[in-house]
Amino acid sequence: MGKQVTIVGGGVIGLCCAYYLNKGGHEVTVIEKGDITNGTSFGNAGYVSPSHFIPLASPGIVAKGLRWMLSSSSPFYIKPRMNIDLIRWGMAFYRSANEKTMEKHIPPLNDILHLSRSLMTDMKSELGNQFRMAEVGCFMLYKSTATEKHELELAAQAARLGIETKVLTGAQVQDMEPEVEVTVRGGVLYPIDCHLHPGDFMKTLKSHLQAGGVKLMLQTTVTGFEKNGNRVQGVITDQGKVACDELVIASGSWIPQVADQLGIHLLLQAGKGYSITYTDVEKNLHHPAILVDDRTAMTPMGKDLRMGGTMEISGINDHILIKRVQSIFRAAKNYYPNLPVSFPETDRIWSGLRPLSPDGLPYIGRHSKYTNVTISGGHAMLGISLAAGSGKLVEEILSGKKTSMDMEAFGVERFG
Ligand SMILES: Cc1cc2nc3c(=O)[nH]c(=O)nc-3n(C[C@H](O)[C@H](O)[C@H](O)COP(=O)(O)OP(=O)(O)OC[C@H]3O[C@@H](n4cnc5c(N)ncnc54)[C@H](O)[C@@H]3O)c2cc1C
Repeated sequence: MGKQVTIVGGGVIGLCCAYYLNKGGHEVTVIEKGDITNGTSFGNAGYVSPSHFIPLASPGIVAKGLRWMLSSSSPFYIKPRMNIDLIRWGMAFYRSANEKTMEKHIPPLNDILHLSRSLMTDMKSELGNQFRMAEVGCFMLYKSTATEKHELELAAQAARLGIETKVLTGAQVQDMEPEVEVTVRGGVLYPIDCHLHPGDFMKTLKSHLQAGGVKLMLQTTVTGFEKNGNRVQGVITDQGKVACDELVIASGSWIPQVADQLGIHLLLQAGKGYSITYTDVEKNLHHPAILVDDRTAMTPMGKDLRMGGTMEISGINDHILIKRVQSIFRAAKNYYPNLPVSFPETDRIWSGLRPLSPDGLPYIGRHSKYTNVTISGGHAMLGISLAAGSGKLVEEILSGKKTSMDMEAFGVERFG
């Protein structure tokens, strides 16, 4: 028999959990402090990318990050502050950013990326492709020989995992982009990657869930929980109490605040990124691309174009550091010189907060302190890529089924 499941957070992770739990016959309520019209799950680059099998915490990232921090226009920034959670997170990140840990984390990350990618094809046909999902792959483009070498090594590693790649010269990349000039040394195409319009995906999920009987409590903030021994029996909100058999915490960068109310302390920092979206672009890209030297993501979404990037670890806020946004725009123009776009007014710059675990793997699973609390979060730069798989795994856990993959690497208590 279906259970009464309450999900905290209506981002892409919460909604995909709701999607699979609803399919699994559970009675689902999603509590969301906003109204599911904006937020991190809306303005991102929209990649569903098995090509991203290297976790964020990887060798060399710490040294590179420290170098980048010296520049106000670099793609990475940590705001120095005396914050014990940030220090603990930083230490755990540092301990994870080595060859051995990365090699251990690649297989589970690869498994969940592929699980999600194939579920997205099912979702596309079940929901109808109202979210502009396009299965044309994604380019990793480079200008320097050093980046080329690195990307070719990654392509070889991808091949060992069974991921197809196509190594292309600058001229071959240009042939695949007939509308715009591309000035690159070359690129690697990952044909398995696809992309979608994340805002349209969220809207589609929202109406599908509402039509399917999922209760969405919008403009409602979770402020605490009612416990009975090692069970959570109610969720306290600013609009009243909601009973639950099972609780799923999927509150993105706010997971620490929500979980703290249950005495659960998760290491997680918000990593801010920006994007700019242009509508009805006269001459647009045909393929999404990561401009690797500049860590900038370009996504054509039908007639629209989005460019985004940067990682700022500066707490939960929506302050815009304009120099970093200008760097995104400059990178785009540097790779695609005749792109018909200009730098926008500040009010058209979007920012969102990636929920970052210290090792680059998500947290998915039950917490041993309670018999009915499951967490799904910390998906960092892969929330869209991993949402479908995460939702399915959460449904399998709550329904007592064998999970589609081994879950050990995603354990929610792995940092103690
Ligand atoms: C610039 C940028 C580009 C990106 N590009 C990609 C990409 O191409 N591909 C990809 O896979 N990922 C990408 N990401 C990452 C992706 O956007 C995130 O991983 C994902 O959106 C996180 O989803 P979430 O549901 O965990 O969190 P969120 O979307 O933040 O949702 C959490 C929700 O919980 C709600 N909430 C919090 N606290 C409470 C409370 N107390 N009560 C009620 N509700 C609460 C919040 O309002 C929020 O709506 C990108 C991110 C950025 C910033």
